[in-house]
Amino acid sequence: MFIVAINQEKCTGCDSCAEGCPAHILGFDGTHAYVSGDEAECLGCESCTSVCPSGAVTITEL
Ligand code: SF4
Ligand code: SF4
Repeated sequence: MFIVAINQEKCTGCDSCAEGCPAHILGFDGTHAYVSGDEAECLGCESCTSVCPSGAVTITEL
């Protein structure tokens, strides 16, 4: 299982993480990304962390 965290202060609002999440658990409110779905469905693929230009997303495996 993974914990997904998005640092709202670091997020520059590019929407790339939400667009690319294969599990569709990241959302975008027009300004910042946020965890909108069930973290239990996170695949740990790190697509979100690799695509984020500002290092705002962190994935932690429990
Ligand atoms: S690690 Fe993959 S599945 Fe998990 S939130 Fe990021 S993009 Fe989505
Ligand atoms: S990829 Fe990073 S900067 Fe872009 S919306 Fe996601 S958290 Fe914000």
